[in-house]
Amino acid sequence: MTTMRGPFDRVPLDELFPHVDDLGRQRMRRAVAMVDAVRPADQTPDWEWWPHHINFPGAAVGVPEILLTEFSLYDDRVDWLAMAIDVEWTAAGRLRVCAAVEVACWCTENHNAHYAPSLEIPVRDDASLEAAFEAAARQLTKWLEEPWDPEHWRARANLPQRFGTSCGGALEP
Ligand SMILES: [Zn+2]
Repeated sequence: MTTMRGPFDRVPLDELFPHVDDLGRQRMRRAVAMVDAVRPADQTPDWEWWPHHINFPGAAVGVPEILLTEFSLYDDRVDWLAMAIDVEWTAAGRLRVCAAVEVACWCTENHNAHYAPSLEIPVRDDASLEAAFEAAARQLTKWLEEPWDPEHWRARANLPQRFGTSCGGALEP
């Protein structure tokens, strides 16, 4: 169970997604360039991938991911904000592409983190992986235009704030 890690030009796209053709791989690379261009300038673009998840490994292992990048937008040790995009398997063994804003939880009951918001795009057939990936990357770049402030994203999702007292949040899967 090895996690591979590196810049996107080291990601073996043809191995991870054997049904995506040359044009599809080009589209994925362009979408990645869009994400890597807008992530924080002080962070080296870093991708993770899991070759042993190329074929659906079953639902027993949680959410099997094939490809992921995450980056921090804010972190003062007690409060934080991050964004992520990944290609993963659903419990039913279908591929999907997810983009998510991840923000620290300040509910009375500690959920650690909330996805606020997230976008999950099902991959309906072999040909639509690159389209789903592009759509998720586009959404991520739009979110990046909003303030890189955890309070902004908690307010947007009606979650309790760091210095607030109410608790209305529930953990999203
Ligand atoms: Zn919470």
